[in-house]
Amino acid sequence: MMDKKSLYDVLADFRKYSLLGWIRFFHLKLRRKKVVIEGNCLMCGRCCRRICLEANGRWLRKEKEFYRVVEKHPEYSRFTVVGRDSQGFLLFSCSWFTTAGICKDHENRLPICRNFPDTNLYFTGGEVPVKCGYLFREITSFATVLKKELDILDEKKKKNTGN
Ligand code: SF4
Ligand code: SF4
Repeated sequence: MMDKKSLYDVLADFRKYSLLGWIRFFHLKLRRKKVVIEGNCLMCGRCCRRICLEANGRWLRKEKEFYRVVEKHPEYSRFTVVGRDSQGFLLFSCSWFTTAGICKDHENRLPICRNFPDTNLYFTGGEVPVKCGYLFREITSFATVLKKELDILDEKKKKNTGN
């Protein structure tokens, strides 16, 4: 069963998801599945060189939106725009990524770095970087499996009692 969301959460998602993300969302819902993240970070740094950024519940598409973010949150000035992904979202590279292939201050990296990859990425139509140690996997939740089994038992009971 999908997690229950408040109307506010659904509206926030509506602003955040892309068309492909919505297709994925409904495809999962129809099959009563959910998406989970599996794997480990291999410390390859690919996400530090091509990452999407989010502000006010939306993934950034315009450079001027990004400059507004930097005004409010100077810590984001470490990022520079390097292109766009296939969904049209801006891609950024981080200047804290050193030539040694590590983060300049891994202990104090931003929350977006700590939380990467988030399932929101899946619903924006995004993917983890090629060769990333994580992957998105669609699974049937335990609640869905249990409900299916209980429905089968229920059917059997009805047949046995002739109802
Ligand atoms: S791309 Fe994936 S494996 Fe590489 S550093 Fe980022 S999260 Fe870790
Ligand atoms: S702050 Fe560190 S972990 Fe975050 S994107 Fe920059 S280099 Fe990567």
